Amino acid sequence: LLLNCCIVLADAEYLKYKDPKQPLNVRIKDLLSRMTLEEKIGQMVQIDRTVASSSVINKYFIGSVLSGGGSVPKKQASAEDWINMVNDFQKGALSTRLGIPIIYGIDAVHGHGNVYKATIFPHNIGMGATRDPELVKKIGEATALEVRATGIPYVFAPCIAVCRDPRWGRCYESYSEDHSVVQSMTEIIPGLQGEIPANSRKGVPFVAGKKNVAACAKHYVGDGGTTKGINENNTVIDRHGLLSIHMPAYYNSIIKGVSTVMISFSSWNGVKMHANRELVTGFLKNTLRFRGFVISDWQGIDRITSPPHANYTYSILTGITTGIDMIMVPYNYTEFIDGLTSLVKESFIPMSRIDDAVRRILRVKFMMGLFENPLADYSLVNQLGKQEHRELAREAVRRSLVLLKNGQYAHKPLLPLPKKASKILVAGTHADNLGYQCGGWTIEWQGLSGNNLTSGTTILSAIKNTVDKNTEVVYKENPDSDYVKSNDFSYAIVVVGEHSYAETFGDSLNLTIPDPGPQTIKNVCGGVKCVVVVISGRPVVIQPYLETIDALVAAWLPGTEGQGVADVLFGDYGFSGKLPRTWFKSVDQLPMNVGDSHYDPLFPFGFGLTTEPDKVE
Ligand code: BGC
Repeated sequence: LLLNCCIVLADAEYLKYKDPKQPLNVRIKDLLSRMTLEEKIGQMVQIDRTVASSSVINKYFIGSVLSGGGSVPKKQASAEDWINMVNDFQKGALSTRLGIPIIYGIDAVHGHGNVYKATIFPHNIGMGATRDPELVKKIGEATALEVRATGIPYVFAPCIAVCRDPRWGRCYESYSEDHSVVQSMTEIIPGLQGEIPANSRKGVPFVAGKKNVAACAKHYVGDGGTTKGINENNTVIDRHGLLSIHMPAYYNSIIKGVSTVMISFSSWNGVKMHANRELVTGFLKNTLRFRGFVISDWQGIDRITSPPHANYTYSILTGITTGIDMIMVPYNYTEFIDGLTSLVKESFIPMSRIDDAVRRILRVKFMMGLFENPLADYSLVNQLGKQEHRELAREAVRRSLVLLKNGQYAHKPLLPLPKKASKILVAGTHADNLGYQCGGWTIEWQGLSGNNLTSGTTILSAIKNTVDKNTEVVYKENPDSDYVKSNDFSYAIVVVGEHSYAETFGDSLNLTIPDPGPQTIKNVCGGVKCVVVVISGRPVVIQPYLETIDALVAAWLPGTEGQGVADVLFGDYGFSGKLPRTWFKSVDQLPMNVGDSHYDPLFPFGFGLTTEPDKVE
């Protein structure tokens, strides 16, 4: 009753900021002028959903909540469950004095990977192989719809890292080692956010409406350039290298209206990016004229010191004066709020810096209509995992496959395979494993193994769906060589690769295919004509087995629609993907990128054989 009465009273008074007819800047100015320091600082705080509640949000005027690492409310949560959770948090924000809505953010980096039944698209490395920005844009549109279907308006994507060393555990989140490919793929931003109107002021964030989400270009800047690909480490490169390789995609993102930019955990020549005022305030905000908000990474300001959190007040001072606007705290929010409040009261941080941060956060919230439509409804729930999106993902899979070798068999190339054969063998740890197919950031942060995680088609089922009804498909995960030789197989398809991983857990110095993958290749390819399909987030060691392999396909991390792999193997479509990165002979060569003076790859950047669709049945 009390709440209703206040809303009625507030409505009675004309509040400029609540009037959507007022220009954006007028609304921002009006609201900012009404806010206390406590309310302003609250806007700058992003907390994890596991510590969030409507009362915490209400009490501390929290500006944002996230699902860290994609953290799910419960396994197999439905779209409705997600909406209920987000709306409950939102009600806490709406019942504050000024009723400023929260913005809920999540990692949806290859579709809405967090949600059971969502469509999972190929990870970015596979999209880089398509060289098709329009396709990536459509995936952005589909992802936005599926994310909005769960009541969430903000995604921490795209990752526009230029991965220069495949030993990096996040290499699959990078479209390419080549900055121009990465730049072209920023087309995902108008897909996610909607097409920016031609007359908009450059640098101003833009989100079209309720079917779009705010995007986040990450991780600013140089995350893909660290020494030996060590995650969150140091990028040693001169200014020219930074500006010509790692920076340009930020410019592309900003002119396409990206709403937010996330700061990298990594350092540039020894300076933590979370403490690099020259690049954050100087270059990003002043030179590139970015007008959205800058967000820290997870506990990013804690990690300004080593060990992390060693002097938190100092870290807050450094991070905020660097120009970071929203802080992914994500747990110890009272400590952060107290620390920042004291720093402002003691004049270490000027009010103008706080106002700049809050203005940017409010700009995004106003611009995307959160004040008018703060609560999600259920009208989009049927968008989750819908057939049209699965078809799009299947097309993306087809286009992402890179054919690296296609040996001769009976005087013609082995691929495409005929659908009619007497008996084919499917082998390998990855042939019937949806979890491995999807990789990290799928249902769980590190990804999963097995087929119970969500709905989709494994490569094995796809093969069975595709071949002629009289073709016998025998599946054996790791057959021995006697078995292979003693059966009369027409040919074999071996699917092996990396296990799922994310971030630091994926850093690898040897890049080998885990056991028993290499053994399966030897046993099978030693006994019968074989196609090897590699499921991996990056090039892996393949040269030692290359001779025994008859045909070799890089399928990256294709996601839920394994049917796309069979579509191309059996010739319904041709191979067209091009390597988005250099395939090394041995890891001693790393880092090795196109344009290097000692360039001696197994397969060069841009390589990819083609096949014609097989019209003859
Ligand atoms: C990652 C970010 C991610 C964030 C939130 C961090 O560990 O570096 O890419 O957006 O977590 O889950």
